[in-house]
Amino acid sequence: MQTLHFARAHEASESHLLRVLRTVAELRAWARHERARGNSISLVPTMGALHDGHASLIRAAADVCSRVAVSIFVNPTQFGPNEDFARYPRTFAADCELAEAAGADIVFAPSVEELYPNAESTFVEVAGLSHLLDGKSRPGHFRGVATVVAKLLIAAEPDRAFFGQKDAAQVAVLRRMTADLLLATEIVVCPIVREPDGLALSSRNIYLNPEEREWALTLSRAVRQAEALFAAGERRAGKITQAARMSFAELPQLRVDYIALVDWATLEPVETATPGSLFAVAAWVGATRLIDNTILQESPPS
Ligand code: AMP
Repeated sequence: MQTLHFARAHEASESHLLRVLRTVAELRAWARHERARGNSISLVPTMGALHDGHASLIRAAADVCSRVAVSIFVNPTQFGPNEDFARYPRTFAADCELAEAAGADIVFAPSVEELYPNAESTFVEVAGLSHLLDGKSRPGHFRGVATVVAKLLIAAEPDRAFFGQKDAAQVAVLRRMTADLLLATEIVVCPIVREPDGLALSSRNIYLNPEEREWALTLSRAVRQAEALFAAGERRAGKITQAARMSFAELPQLRVDYIALVDWATLEPVETATPGSLFAVAAWVGATRLIDNTILQESPPS
């Protein structure tokens, strides 16, 4: 086990050490030990390259559980053969500092061999849902996500696991997975953290050049437009998605993957939007695929 020495500001008298666990056995032993001492455990699964969106999840986890585990694992099975697995940003030392400052007690950072001891033997696949939205354009993506999250939940048995609404389709898949597999962990969803100009934080934003960074704002503008239309009384899903399509049509540099208004639980399209419907967009900005979404409400978020 590796121990990183980061002082925790609010525990000045007893310097807090962020522990880095590398094996499933260590994670399981840590979780059992903490549970036996009466501590509740939350888990924040990530792929690293941590930013303030991840920090918000860790802080939310620390608010409700006495122990917080953050996993950092660039999961190969959720990347397609032509996707960015090899060049995905890896910033481990900085990630540990961020996790520690946000309230993490341990970072679980296993090797690929540790989480996949028998290469490609057993997978978890949520039927139906896994092939909609991002799952449609990224075949196998949600199978990889469901598999790795199931492994983490089985190993750590956390009371709660924290995910961002940023990946709304992922949330639907994981809610269904935990329900179907009768896992006891509660799935907690946290709001999307954005840059001041509206762009949703993403580890992939670093791929954008200044021009692309500007074009990328089309996604958050489309989201805001959908919120405003809904708040103004528009309920026809076709009208709301059409308005977004027109915004994208003005910028031929962007390639829309999907613009959808769906039921958040089933990811199936709805004809009539209701409070709680999910409006979601995915688009290619140059070589970078970005996503954004909103859960429609009677009055739009300020
Ligand atoms: P990733 O490292 O991209 O797999 O993301 C790990 C977790 O952080 C996922 O549950 C994401 O939904 C969440 N996340 C990523 N970006 C944001 C954001 N901008 N706001 C809130 N949560 C986020």
